[in-house]
Amino acid sequence: MEFVRLRNYIDGEWADDTGAEYIPLYNPSTGEVIGEVPLSSAGTSRAAVNSASRAYESWWRMPVAQRVSYLFKLRRAMEEKLEDLAFAIAIDQAKHIGEARGEVLRVIQIVEAACSIPTLIQGETLEGVAGNINARIIRQPLGVFAGVAPFNFPALVFGWFVPFAIGVGNTFVFKPSPQSPLFMQKMGDVLTQIGLPKGVVNIINGDHRAPEVWFDHPKIAGICSVGSSPTAKKIAEACGRNGKRAMLLGGAKNYLVVLEDAQMDIFVDNYLNSCYGSAGQRCLAGSIVAVVPEIYDETVARIVEASKGVVVGDALDPKVYMGPVISAEAKKRIERLIEVGVGEGARLVLDGRNPKVPEKNKNGYFVGPTVFTEVTPDMTIAKEEIFGPVVSVIRTKDLDEVLQLIRKQRVGNGACIFTQNLYYTEKFISEADVGMVGVNVGISAPHPYLPFGGIKDSLVGTNKVQGKDGIDFFTQSKIATVRVAPPTGRHLAEGLRPAGKPSREVRSCVAG
Ligand code: NAD
Repeated sequence: MEFVRLRNYIDGEWADDTGAEYIPLYNPSTGEVIGEVPLSSAGTSRAAVNSASRAYESWWRMPVAQRVSYLFKLRRAMEEKLEDLAFAIAIDQAKHIGEARGEVLRVIQIVEAACSIPTLIQGETLEGVAGNINARIIRQPLGVFAGVAPFNFPALVFGWFVPFAIGVGNTFVFKPSPQSPLFMQKMGDVLTQIGLPKGVVNIINGDHRAPEVWFDHPKIAGICSVGSSPTAKKIAEACGRNGKRAMLLGGAKNYLVVLEDAQMDIFVDNYLNSCYGSAGQRCLAGSIVAVVPEIYDETVARIVEASKGVVVGDALDPKVYMGPVISAEAKKRIERLIEVGVGEGARLVLDGRNPKVPEKNKNGYFVGPTVFTEVTPDMTIAKEEIFGPVVSVIRTKDLDEVLQLIRKQRVGNGACIFTQNLYYTEKFISEADVGMVGVNVGISAPHPYLPFGGIKDSLVGTNKVQGKDGIDFFTQSKIATVRVAPPTGRHLAEGLRPAGKPSREVRSCVAG
């Protein structure tokens, strides 16, 4: 791949940030430097907001069907460019190429869901709220929104924010992670190709400093972010101080619960995808396996056997199951946490440090499947988000005990249960203190027509992404009270007046 110098997409044009500092962009599968990313200046960030603000004036007035026609074009263009877009994700984020294709396809589904916006933003009417008076609720856009993405879902997070935000009439400034910006470089070209009016979507590159401009910018209506919980809280504070809307998804630590009647083949299959997909770098990744005593030994044996079969290597190699983690620092941090687990007395039954990889990948950032057993809930590896392919197996007495452990967690993104029992299923759905629950599935990600998001520290702010939550976040309601007077002018609100002459005058303090 040719060395790439990343640019910003402002007002429909690609531009270098001449004054910016640049940082290297790596291919985590090989450790090679493949490009450089500008840490955009405050001036560039402001220029992007101004462009979005100018575009808003005509974009929100455009008939909704016309706005949504751009989403239909976006869907088609993304389908045509599927391989190219997936390749970008497999290079700088080093998500396995098969999973990268899956991520782009999920964004296409989100765009399809957003194509229903003309139905989803319909308001409500209450006819005859008083004599000759009707009331109506309409939903309208707010202006310019801005958002930041984490490194691990460069495409999906674009999908969570942008189609819903612009479909309802807002404009957007999007900042990808400086560790995985290539997908958005491709998307800028896609936006030009579909003829999206200039400034409706702007893309800037950079680290945490570029978004600081948005915090008190009068033209920014709200900020969306997906990232760690500390990032979400910092943005939430800034939005709170400045009266801006905030949709902020945070970190996670997800349980897979295995009960005595679990279908073991279904569990193991889901375990592999859940714990080792994206090298464990998913917000819905399985991180803790809680098993009841009756099947503890069998479950551990099956997990270890299956984990040993996971092929680790280059994200572009179709024979590989799991690619590298995102950076040399991430690898070091994960290896340190493995050391901490050993130090705190957990049993390391499968050590993924320094796995065997092909010669061309010897400088890549690989950690193989790692399994700890006899983990207790107070250990660091059971509490901290490791964000790598490291699994802690905890022995639990019964479902009640697992539910208590989940309740004690500060985060609450997802949790899954493996059982055939209806009572356990319903109890888990009702009582698991998380935002997304799975039953006999390893990843509880809701379909794009439904909201996606956790609770507690996994969701800072009020709204989840996608579905009706997304529509609600990106629109504000306006209530109209309308007196419908006949042409003669005889329009008194008879409904409020008692028959005959009133003994005391009643003046209405409300309409009617
Ligand atoms: P991160 O918090 O380091 O960065 C996320 C984004 O925020 C990046 O674009 C970064 O440049 C920006 N950023 C960082 N600090 C900021 C600040 N103070 N102000 C404004 N922007 C700031 O996260 P990451 O390492 O890129 O991603 C991994 C994290 O994301 C994990 O904790 C994971 O659980 C979480 N995540 C959560 C979900 C979810 O649905 N809850 C989905 C994906 C990832």
